[in-house]
Amino acid sequence: MIALTLARIAEVVGGEVVADPPVASEPVTVTGPVVIDSREARPGGLFVAFVGERTDGHEHVPQAAEAGAVAVLGSRPTTLPTVVVADPQQALQRLAAHVVAEVRRAGRLTVLAITGSQGKTSTKDLLGAVLEHAAPTVATRGSFNNELGMPLTALRTEADTRFLVLELGARGRGHIAELTDLVRPDISVVLNVGQAHLGEFGSQDAIAEAKGELVQALTATGTAVLNHGDERVAAMARLTDGSVVTFGDGAGADVRVEDLTLDRLGRPSFVLATPQGSVPVALQVVGSHQALNAAAACAAALAAGLDPAQVAQALDEVTTLSQWRMELRELDRGVIVLNDSYNANPESMRAALDALASIGADPGVRRTVAVLGEMRELGDSGHEEHEGVGSYAAALGVDLVVVVGDAAHGIRDGAGERAVAVADNVEAVAWVQEHIGDGDAVLFKASRGARLDEVAAALQ
Ligand code: ATP
Ligand code: MG
Repeated sequence: MIALTLARIAEVVGGEVVADPPVASEPVTVTGPVVIDSREARPGGLFVAFVGERTDGHEHVPQAAEAGAVAVLGSRPTTLPTVVVADPQQALQRLAAHVVAEVRRAGRLTVLAITGSQGKTSTKDLLGAVLEHAAPTVATRGSFNNELGMPLTALRTEADTRFLVLELGARGRGHIAELTDLVRPDISVVLNVGQAHLGEFGSQDAIAEAKGELVQALTATGTAVLNHGDERVAAMARLTDGSVVTFGDGAGADVRVEDLTLDRLGRPSFVLATPQGSVPVALQVVGSHQALNAAAACAAALAAGLDPAQVAQALDEVTTLSQWRMELRELDRGVIVLNDSYNANPESMRAALDALASIGADPGVRRTVAVLGEMRELGDSGHEEHEGVGSYAAALGVDLVVVVGDAAHGIRDGAGERAVAVADNVEAVAWVQEHIGDGDAVLFKASRGARLDEVAAALQ
């Protein structure tokens, strides 16, 4: 974060500095990091104390102080100099807006924001890596994409930061607008409108409307980066007076994936055709869908001023995405593990199964096994969607589909005779330890709540 005195922070967030004993003549200056978890506090940092259902952050101030935090933003005085406000979360957001505005005023900050039903984190990780190659970049960590994560990310902006890459999630209408009111994007990327959180939204059109807020937030000098192959996303072009660049794998897109092939482990090689020329890319991450994410990242990076050769070189060098997203491991025993247990919905299940099937095409792979659990938040269509995933796996020729837990039993119905049902993760661990061996390629995937990474870990 840029350095700010506590008095200035109080002014920005509309709070009052309370310090007992009173702060001496030296003003307290916060240099960051700004954290909400006292264990992450560092020297010069600001600890934001929230009163949650189970814990009261104010009680962790001593820990934060121990770790070097110099001040607190909270709703009551503490043992550190504290900016007291009625609503610390709102104060955190205001502070984030201020910091980004200051850096923007002083330098050449470009803010890039990404939303979509799936692929936000993958694309953010790719884009962050590409931009980092060119200039100092701050990007969302993991999936910190909500009303807390976005401000915390924005607060990591430094005076010399050139690119700020934000992953934004939406669980309802108005959520993205609320975030873009704080930090206006210069470049807005919309990946797709799928069925994630369909239960909360009611319809896919409602999801599209919520994601469209990211495009609406652009000014006339901004650029929308839109998926040419997704009808609802492509239609968002009319929500902005700014420029529009499209990406896709079909004719008509401005940045296109061409000549896609997958290697033995399902890693895509392809050509990115751009208005500034074509470049070859060989990704080290798995799944053909990552090629499309790379095209989105490329289109955004070009809009931010990079050239295609820079983009291609940086994409080639990305070795891992955030944790549990298509993590690929080859174990000693000739077992290939594809750990995609971060989350799941019908589209990403199909994408991951495609990747598994492509790995299975290698003659060295004896058998493909999909260990699948529940996809949450699907609303009424839940059983049907699970069944669809099961029959998709069967149609791809996945050899065994291990269905974990009752909530996922639709998958078993769809997969038919290839299905093996186990009651829970404990049984799943026992099953993989007994049955997985030489020459098997195994995919683990379910919604986060199913914690299938525990089962994957048992194998590794
Ligand atoms: P979240 O909402 O949980 O933050 P996300 O949008 O950030 O999710 P990722 O974490 O990148 O998405 O990926 C989630 C899942 O979707 C993974 O299984 C990933 O492999 C898959 N996926 C990534 N990109 C695509 C895509 N373009 N199409 C379909 N599936 C995808
Ligand atoms: Mg994410």
